[in-house]
Amino acid sequence: MNFYQEQVESVFEELSTSQNGLANKEVQKRLEEYGPNNLDIARGTPKWLLFLLQFKDVLTIMLVVASGMSFLIQNYRDAFVMLAIVFINVVIGFWQEFKAEKIMSSLQKLVQSPAKVYRDGEVQEVSQQDLVPGDIISLEEGDKVPADMRIIEAYNLRINEVALTGESLPQEKQSNHIEEELSLADRDNMAYMGTNVASGSAKGVIVATGSDTEMGKIATMTQEEEKSQSPLEEELTVVANRLAIFGIIIGFLLFGVSIYRGLDLYYALVYGLGITVAIVPQALPMQITVALSNGVAKMSKQNAIVKKLSSVETLGSTNVIATDKTGTLTKNEMTVHKVWFNNQQYEVTGLGYQPEGDILDTEGNSLSQEQIDELEIMFDAATMASNAEIHPPDDEHEGWYPIGDPTEAALITLSTKLGTRSPNEDEENPELHEFSFDSDRKRMSSIRQFEDGKFLTMKGALNSVLSVTKHIYKDGEKVEITEEDKQRLNELNEEYSNGALRVLAIAYRKLGLDETDYVMEEIERDVVFLGLVAMIDPPKEGVKEAIAGAHEAQIDTYIMTGDHAITAKAIAEEIDLGHGEEVVAISNQELDEFSDEELSEVMQGDTSIVFSRVSPENKLKIVKNLKEQDKIVAVTGDGVNDAPALKSAHIGVAMGQMGTDVSKEASEMVLLDDSYPTLVHAIEQGRTIYNNLKKTVLASLTSNGAELSIVLLGLIGAAIFAWPIPILAIQILSIDLLAEILPLTALTFDPGSENLMTTPPREQDEHIINQRSISEVAFLGILMGGLAFVNYGLFASGVDGGLTESHQLYPRATTITYLTIVVCQLINILSRRYELTSLFNKNLFSNSKMTYSILLSIGLVLVVIYTPGLSSYLDFVPLPLSDWGRVLTAGGVFLLAFESIKFYKRQRREKQN
Ligand code: ATP
Repeated sequence: MNFYQEQVESVFEELSTSQNGLANKEVQKRLEEYGPNNLDIARGTPKWLLFLLQFKDVLTIMLVVASGMSFLIQNYRDAFVMLAIVFINVVIGFWQEFKAEKIMSSLQKLVQSPAKVYRDGEVQEVSQQDLVPGDIISLEEGDKVPADMRIIEAYNLRINEVALTGESLPQEKQSNHIEEELSLADRDNMAYMGTNVASGSAKGVIVATGSDTEMGKIATMTQEEEKSQSPLEEELTVVANRLAIFGIIIGFLLFGVSIYRGLDLYYALVYGLGITVAIVPQALPMQITVALSNGVAKMSKQNAIVKKLSSVETLGSTNVIATDKTGTLTKNEMTVHKVWFNNQQYEVTGLGYQPEGDILDTEGNSLSQEQIDELEIMFDAATMASNAEIHPPDDEHEGWYPIGDPTEAALITLSTKLGTRSPNEDEENPELHEFSFDSDRKRMSSIRQFEDGKFLTMKGALNSVLSVTKHIYKDGEKVEITEEDKQRLNELNEEYSNGALRVLAIAYRKLGLDETDYVMEEIERDVVFLGLVAMIDPPKEGVKEAIAGAHEAQIDTYIMTGDHAITAKAIAEEIDLGHGEEVVAISNQELDEFSDEELSEVMQGDTSIVFSRVSPENKLKIVKNLKEQDKIVAVTGDGVNDAPALKSAHIGVAMGQMGTDVSKEASEMVLLDDSYPTLVHAIEQGRTIYNNLKKTVLASLTSNGAELSIVLLGLIGAAIFAWPIPILAIQILSIDLLAEILPLTALTFDPGSENLMTTPPREQDEHIINQRSISEVAFLGILMGGLAFVNYGLFASGVDGGLTESHQLYPRATTITYLTIVVCQLINILSRRYELTSLFNKNLFSNSKMTYSILLSIGLVLVVIYTPGLSSYLDFVPLPLSDWGRVLTAGGVFLLAFESIKFYKRQRREKQN
């Protein structure tokens, strides 16, 4: 059946459904029949491919080749050990990457918004996966269309179908059936999965779900997501590649020397290859991915979902947060507090969405029923221009809760509290058309059918409503609104806003019978002003502290709100945005007039600014301006109109609860609890993760430096003293595997340092691998390799008749070299935990993963060296105490050197301060 060619009734019939939606029981049956509503194709890389991809690495291939050659020359031991190393590396790599992919895809699900669906005649919020054909769902601006549907009601509906048809302009949609056969892009009474609502609202009946949808049919073609590397991963890939080239040169050199020393050709080649592989940190980029995805998983438990791994790095360097107010800084739990109607002011009691409370006059007396009846005209207009609902407590909600916009839910609560709202309002006065709220127009209106005709009911920001007002309601009559009236209203608006209240104006207009075209400009005019309602929205717990915390960490916070300047400023003062100083407020109009230079000047002068009534264009202007000042900007947003600013920011942050799907898609991060403190916390996590990566990278490169040095020094030893090589290829390979991999991974779990949020953010162009860190790594690496070589040399020179490869003391000599590097590397990893502080501080055991992994590594090394059979298999021998003395002395020297570097750094830092 071509649903777009059918009347709505026959679509209902075909799908056995109705305006009231399906019965819950029927839904279960259909779910079993049609399966969940998702695109069931493997997202990302299939498992087998992920496994094979682990072998694509040049160095792994080299190792496999080396192993093959060892096999040919019947050196089965080396062949086997190298294969084992390849295998373990590949399995770890595969498992880690698989885990990282899984983490990322499970996070995608967390940020999916629920669908609003009518079932058994009630609105319910259900997971998009649980939608079935025949479900009736409603869509609003910013929603993603969750399945293919035939539109049954549409209000100014425009859908962005670029993902499906490639058409970049939003398409107007309507609900009438179409006679002729049309292609997908022209079916204007259908909405398809994967597209999204650019404006307006709609109701529709689902006709296809999951892989039966149009998107499902072409999914395999469009799902391929491009994988991008983070800046750090890129940086490390470059380093790893350079080291690989260097390693290959060394490999050739070694090969030459080995031949020269009369080694067998094959043996020399294998040795060269083995060493090359050993000195390159090929696992490092993978380790970074793992560290990032572990960090992301941890952040998700704290309600911050990072959608792209690379964003974590940027997050840590954020130095400006431009946040919206409602829901992020405030609870978005609106309660009407004040009402102004017919020249009288009233106060409303009660809190939250529980419809219990009273309305009092200025003397504090409750109103009589008669007085309440007088107010009813205004409350009715307010609720009829609203779509939200309030629900009593249930399993998932402790108290009464809203479905829909909290501002609107507050109005529903108000009239339910006072008993003016009919439970059957929508049936008694059905909605004929709606002009939805948008943050540009700052009002919304609904056309309702009454017994005596059609009425427009309207609510919105005072200025917005006044701009279309002609009359005002006074003593039961409508009279022309005067300038004094307007002035009085503006004064009231200011007074309420000063008390941090959000003000809404309510109005109506009787429509003529001939007004059936519902053109917004024609209908939203000449309204009768009814009154004002003012609602509180208290700041969230923890916001004030988080603002202070961000300030201490030298992160500036700007508020960019759609709300009135005075309300926003009052809230800003409550949360102490200005840190004791007065907060500057800048209006949208001023923003319009500012040139870029003027705006930069203002923002550089004041770091606590409230931008009020900001238009989406000006949000973008602010973000761009901050970027031009070389700031790293995190911007929060929730609406469709916020998408450009979110995209432009370094870190776009969408709201998980109140945010539209469009804003979530435009963002790098989603806050599940919509909360500013969560964002500040996420930045702190970002800093911790970055610092830990830095530790891991530098610690890892130091041991590669040591391995390189020992091999080079070995060449010199061979040339001058005719000593055999100080360490075997497989021994070097086993340093990584036995002693290093676990503590290095543990390093990525290090807790944040105590002064993490009292120091400024790192500079954006700061690289982990810079001249200073390279020289430090080089120094420590050469020292580590040098100490190992000294130990080896001291031992070798004491051997009677000179040390040779076949000498029975040769394995003891290489074991000394090996252990010296292992001990120094463990000290190196431990020392890296604190950039400036001595290793011996009270937090020495604060990372239990580190403590256990160091113990485990030591255990593994001892097992390998002291287990007969295994030990000789790898050419190790158990060392006597005297040799351990040499090894530990070298460790002591290394530690002393590291501590001296830190001492020097501390001195320098102090001088700088
Ligand atoms: P923020 O941008 O900080 O989240 P906000 O939620 O106040 O602030 P908007 O949602 O753009 O920003 O609201 C701007 C103004 O529009 C409000 O101050 C209010 O007067 C009016 N308004 C808000 N919600 C509605 C609504 N559902 N219907 C009619 N008018 C509304």
